[in-house]
Amino acid sequence: MSEAPARILLVDDEESVRLTLEAVLRQEGYDVATAGSGAEALRSIREDRFDLLLTDLRIDEIDGLTLLAAAQKRDPETVSILLTGYASLESAVQALRHGAFNYLLKPCNIEEMKLTISRGLEKKKLAEALRERVVELERAYETIRTFNAQLEDKVKMATAELAERVRELQESRGRLDAVIDSMQDGLLFYGRDGRVLRANAFMLSLFSTAAGEILGRQAEEVAAITGEPPLPLDKPGLVLQSLDEPVEAAIFEIERPRKRFVRRITSPVIGEGAPVTGMVVIYQDITDQKEVEQLKDDFLSIASHELKTPLTSIMGYTQLLNRRLPAESRKLGSEDVIDVIETQCRRMKRLVDDLLDVSRIERGALQTSQSVVDLGALTRDVAQKLEATSPAHQFRLLLPEDRVTVWGDEDRLEQVLTNLISNAVKYSPDGGAVEIRLSRDGETAALSVQDWGIGIPAEQQAQVFSRFYQAESVVRSRRFGGMGLGLFISKAIIDEMGGTISVDSTVGQGSTFRFTLPVYRE
Ligand code: ADP
Repeated sequence: MSEAPARILLVDDEESVRLTLEAVLRQEGYDVATAGSGAEALRSIREDRFDLLLTDLRIDEIDGLTLLAAAQKRDPETVSILLTGYASLESAVQALRHGAFNYLLKPCNIEEMKLTISRGLEKKKLAEALRERVVELERAYETIRTFNAQLEDKVKMATAELAERVRELQESRGRLDAVIDSMQDGLLFYGRDGRVLRANAFMLSLFSTAAGEILGRQAEEVAAITGEPPLPLDKPGLVLQSLDEPVEAAIFEIERPRKRFVRRITSPVIGEGAPVTGMVVIYQDITDQKEVEQLKDDFLSIASHELKTPLTSIMGYTQLLNRRLPAESRKLGSEDVIDVIETQCRRMKRLVDDLLDVSRIERGALQTSQSVVDLGALTRDVAQKLEATSPAHQFRLLLPEDRVTVWGDEDRLEQVLTNLISNAVKYSPDGGAVEIRLSRDGETAALSVQDWGIGIPAEQQAQVFSRFYQAESVVRSRRFGGMGLGLFISKAIIDEMGGTISVDSTVGQGSTFRFTLPVYRE
């Protein structure tokens, strides 16, 4: 787009001058308006807009300075050039002071005039460009100021949020510290490098040590102070990833500062993406619990021993009566009193024997005699004996043709077989089959006893081998009797002989108890 030509107001009362200059200026491509009097010039200035005022200094009663003032008032950037003779040079200087761009002496040199006009317009253009730049700059500055203010707001908000987070973190850390320090268990926290980061008050007092002794130490160094068994570490640092179970528990005894039993529970701290980032070790003082257990075991042992002596004597005398008393004096109604006493005494002896066995197991004194045992023959004997007293059940005995022998205590194995088979009978109260199967797989002998009775709920199966454990339904119904010791004792016996024992059962469909033992090569 081509620029519009600059607009010039030419004021001179001498018509010839006016016409000449107008012609020259038009030729230069300017858009020229003329005025022959001060009044005419003032009107033009008021009504029109000019880039440049070229005026004679002396016109009539309204002089060039007045026009200059009017033009500047209308547009301060109007370029004013005054034409003057020598006589009024002083006034021209004054005009310059009032903001005129320049003055030209009359008669004026045309080239000089052209040059002065084009310089004046150039200056005006520059001034305008400058003003635009200033406006632009001001706008940019304003934008920056706004941005700055917004940024400041954001920084303020973020800072406040951060402060809030820090406060929350400090609070939750404070809570955690309170929990850790008031815990009635000892706690050690190992960091990623395998060194102790944190030890709580209970841990320090349990092992009578100080934070300075423990912090920064590795597990082996800590063990030397506490007297605990070594931790299951992969290497001197810590990597518990090799643990099958994510948590390890150990019980140990310490002598210092006084005799205590301690249970240690170790678990790895798993970070994001499952690498081990640390380790937590909890120490529980279980001395009181151990003492109570010891008291219980002592009581059990004393009570069962004390019961056994009178019972043995009652049984002896009952056998004597059995032999000596004539049949008619043993009857009470239709019942043979001596038989009843004998049966009940045998039951009581079994209970007392079980209690004694439990206290032996607790003391680690379940001694088993060692001999070669023909497991097939033993199973047959026990099954036959029990079959005679279980008329409602059909026994199926599946024995291999070849002898299966194991090394162990025959009486104890008889006890296990009796327990498993009589349980199968007892817990299938509506009768049914009892299948006893002996097999050999390489170096392992396996004996299973299966029934189609009440079964055991899956979540209780793991506990049936625990001391005094009876399934809930059995406890509730009270119809089966027993103390929940048979399987506990059986497991201890099989463990002692290097075997395994397990159960597979479905409620309402029956159970299969199975034990394995290493085969004895004759
Ligand atoms: P007891 O038979 O004296 O209760 P045991 O130690 O022999 O004690 O058995 C423990 C518990 O296991 C029983 O009380 C019973 O709940 C359950 N149990 C054992 N054998 C069977 C079985 N064959 N069928 C169903 N439940 C059984």
